[in-house]
Amino acid sequence: MSTDRTDGFATRAIHAGQSPDPTTGAVVPPIYQVSTYAQDGVGGLRSGYEYSRSANPTRTALETALADLEHGERGFAFASGLAAEDALLRSVLRPGDHVVVPDDAYGGTYRLIARVLGEWQVDHTPARLTDPAAVAAATRPGRTRLVWVETPTNPLLRVADIAALAAVAHEAGALLAVDNTFATPYLQTPVTLGADVVVHSTTKYVGGHSDVVGGALVTAPGATLPGGRTGPTGTTSLSDAIGFLQNAAGAVAGPFDAWLTLRGLRTLAVRMERHQANAQAVAELLAGHAEVSAVHYPGLPGDPGHEVATRQMRGFGGIVSVQVGSAARARALCATTRLFTLAESLGGVESLIELPAAMTHASVAGSALEVPADLVRLSVGIEDVDDLLADLDQALRTL
Ligand SMILES: *Cc1c(COP(=O)(O)O)cnc(C)c1O
Repeated sequence: MSTDRTDGFATRAIHAGQSPDPTTGAVVPPIYQVSTYAQDGVGGLRSGYEYSRSANPTRTALETALADLEHGERGFAFASGLAAEDALLRSVLRPGDHVVVPDDAYGGTYRLIARVLGEWQVDHTPARLTDPAAVAAATRPGRTRLVWVETPTNPLLRVADIAALAAVAHEAGALLAVDNTFATPYLQTPVTLGADVVVHSTTKYVGGHSDVVGGALVTAPGATLPGGRTGPTGTTSLSDAIGFLQNAAGAVAGPFDAWLTLRGLRTLAVRMERHQANAQAVAELLAGHAEVSAVHYPGLPGDPGHEVATRQMRGFGGIVSVQVGSAARARALCATTRLFTLAESLGGVESLIELPAAMTHASVAGSALEVPADLVRLSVGIEDVDDLLADLDQALRTL
């Protein structure tokens, strides 16, 4: 079953890259739990498969589906979101290069750029992504080769104008990478707004059931390496450079992980609708609550990101962050919810609560990315909304 990109999102999520198995007619791609493939004479590959680090049919199905949904050229699936980020950074950057990073971002991304790439002579400057002029001012002519964007950001839900930042990056001779983990391709497609490459932790909404860790990259059609560079395969293509490193370094998604991620992807549209309807109700409850000092959610009309998000996204997503006045009160809130489970990660069907300063973002303490100590992040699940509202209300009343 082939799809074309005029089909709607939910149709493509179910059919792109997922034709019935040609041999058996199996209606979903099987788990090809195999490392190597018989050759018809030396070099006589059947359907191009040789060894599962290089390519595996279950992974191909996931990569094809993700590329389709993001309107990209090629998709690449990795063992984790950070493995995907590492492959992108090392495909694009060389010693002496500079990266502009968000001043509010997933802590692991910052740690990878600052503490791993930093050891390989890659410099970085944090900038406030909601201010394109500040991002432009952070670029260094001839040295900045990548501008890293997360939108909405983790954990403060700030919204960046992707088209404006693409113009800033390209003016500086850099690529624009967008971490689309929070929005998912259902809510926004950065490639159609000028991004050169999209990054995912598929661990989150794409997988959607808190049962698999994975990551992905999707390149924009025709994307090339920055500064007119040629990659290891002798071309300027960004896809070629990433494909080479995916195989050469080998941090690929295994067949079962790819299969679980693809199973999640098929229901992304309906899950996101419910996540964001529930998140909107949660944000409205919190915004009117006496025990709350600030709510961060782009779906609230007064939120600083509301206007750009309305223009750029098809909805506002399922994450809400809230400030409750002190670290002690934030810890107490995390300890008293019944349905919101205290845990890291996000994007699964079940609601989660966490304290970024001590959990997901502990690695950025003391940096420009440090998060407020009284901030609590909620990943609003797809349970019955009245149960979620009652749970938060009872927990807040104990503060
Ligand atoms: C979780 C996360 C990552 C890292 O992905 P892993 O799958 O945990 O390696 C990157 N970016 C964002 C926005 C995330 O939430």
